[in-house]
Amino acid sequence: MRTLIEKLENQGVLTKEEYSALIRSRTPELAGLLFEKARNIRERYYGKDVYIRGLIEFTSCCKNDCYYCGLRRSNRNAQRYRLTKDEILECCKNGYGLGFRTFVLQGGEDPYFTAEKLVDIISSIKNGFPDCALTLSVGEKSYDEYKAFFDAGAERYLLRHETADDEHYRRLHPKELSPENRKRCLYDLKEIGYQVGCGFMVGSPWQTAENLADDLLFIKELQPQMVGIGPFIPQHDTPFGDKQAGTLELTLFMLGLLRLTLPYALIPATTALGTIDPLGREKGIQSGANVVMPNLSPVSVRKKYLLYDNKICTGDEAAECRNCLEMRMKAIGYNVVVSRGDCCNFNK
Ligand code: SAM
Repeated sequence: MRTLIEKLENQGVLTKEEYSALIRSRTPELAGLLFEKARNIRERYYGKDVYIRGLIEFTSCCKNDCYYCGLRRSNRNAQRYRLTKDEILECCKNGYGLGFRTFVLQGGEDPYFTAEKLVDIISSIKNGFPDCALTLSVGEKSYDEYKAFFDAGAERYLLRHETADDEHYRRLHPKELSPENRKRCLYDLKEIGYQVGCGFMVGSPWQTAENLADDLLFIKELQPQMVGIGPFIPQHDTPFGDKQAGTLELTLFMLGLLRLTLPYALIPATTALGTIDPLGREKGIQSGANVVMPNLSPVSVRKKYLLYDNKICTGDEAAECRNCLEMRMKAIGYNVVVSRGDCCNFNK
């Protein structure tokens, strides 16, 4: 198995059989070797820098009914809120003062926020903070809507593909959501010129090593600039409330494989990783990740954006969240930097 890791390091890709064999036969020793190589590659392109993204969770309303997500429309116990444009701009203002140069607008698929409203919010953010990058994560839209957001100034888009296997996708989502449309969105976003992020949950129900291998191959083919992966964590008011959570160990192994597969990628150590282990984000960075996404949402709404149980950072002040992460990164020898943090392999 060591030779497979070396092959991946040299060639940047393995076959489906090789990836799945490596995932199935992983050991702590193999993981140690993988993480060392992942750190080396990451440091070759990004040094010891860790980019921060200010996450603004601007709506907890969602028209979709994904079986795993606490925001799903059938969850009667979810607390719903929407931030106003002024509240969103206030988050950006606070974030700018704290050194954020990327804002991520994330939310459920909320029909209240029409394309027209989103374009207005995007233009206002870009006018107010012209030296900042704006990332959207608002789900599946038409080509024309994505184009309108891009023309208004949004330059990055996060849309996890969730799983590259069509059959598996159908087991995680109701039938009105299709794997074909999810992938269509990702290719549209690329064509329009966004820096694109895809990704998946590790340990989602019924996921196999072959599914994970397919995820890596899909990512290799799509060549996104960003990839978000984190453990699946059950939320008690969803149909998957009694399913097992993904593990820290497998998530870190997948982060290592991802770094070797896509050396240039911007890869966050996610909040979900920090939720399943108190040092999860640090361990994520030490396994190949190079981004963290502190919460910039107003403290009053943080406990209402609950995708999964026991989510961390729902009580802190924005400033504390940012400073806490800076200290955590320093403690393991990495530096949070004030930068837009673009992908080093993205040509406009
Ligand atoms: N609505 C947008 C979308 O569909 O891309 C953005 C928000 S959505 C809540 C963001 C991501 O949260 C999803 O892509 C999914 O991977 C993740 N997520 C949802 N429920 C989760 C859970 N129970 N455990 C871990 N991650 C979860």
